[in-house]
Amino acid sequence: MPELPEVEVSRQGLLTYLTGRRIVGAVVRTSKLRHEIPVGLDHRLSGLTVEAISRRGKYLVFDCAAARGGGWLLIHLGMSGSLRLVPPATPAQKHDHFDLVFPETVLRLRDPRRFGDVLWQDGPVVDCHPALATLGVEPLSDDFSGDWLHAATRRRRMPVKPVLMDNRLVVGIGNIYAAESLFLAGISPLRRADQIDLEHYRRLALAICSTLRASIAAGGSSVRDYVHSDGGAGCYQLSCAVYGRAGQPCPSCANAVQVVRQAGRSTFYCSNCQC
Ligand SMILES: [Zn+2]
Repeated sequence: MPELPEVEVSRQGLLTYLTGRRIVGAVVRTSKLRHEIPVGLDHRLSGLTVEAISRRGKYLVFDCAAARGGGWLLIHLGMSGSLRLVPPATPAQKHDHFDLVFPETVLRLRDPRRFGDVLWQDGPVVDCHPALATLGVEPLSDDFSGDWLHAATRRRRMPVKPVLMDNRLVVGIGNIYAAESLFLAGISPLRRADQIDLEHYRRLALAICSTLRASIAAGGSSVRDYVHSDGGAGCYQLSCAVYGRAGQPCPSCANAVQVVRQAGRSTFYCSNCQC
């Protein structure tokens, strides 16, 4: 599944090619992904310019002349979505559900499992879109810190890992990043969020930022369905300390890495190093 670093790498890749470009139109080959693709999107997009591409959680947010009568195109890659730039008139293949067409290139969304989204918000403000309105803090923003995380979890009685993965609190910390960050910070994923002290949350916040940043710098971690925006396969396999390594030696103490189920997801950790 594309995680925050992959989406950020896609964003950075697309910026160079698409910022300032005029949109010719859009091709919608599927009426519905996770949600309906807005009717008339081709007409709405035609003639607008991509003025900026930002990211909110795992949504790519295209500013399509939003301050000048346009709006915002939101793309989410879901479980299996990928974006690539292809030459105009490149035949679409199965699962190519959406094209954003420019004179010189086409941004194409492929999504075999159809959990992605193509959404639209009219007007100058995008944060009010229902898809974005409930999203929590960005982990790479100035709003995120150990002090903030500590304060935000005083009434959270759940284990810390599912709390970290709650997008209403903080966005974009997927299963891999939650596991690796908790390992780096020496915190058991089973600990109740409200019982972790400030010092540990400060360590955890640093671990989250460094894990995400390292993955972005390396081009996103390599996951099965991830493809860079230019069509090249993501080449970086995040060198995980615990994630996906059940039964293998912990890199710090050599005890076997444990795996348990939490909130329907596999949680990997070292019961010796994390408490
Ligand atoms: Zn260990």
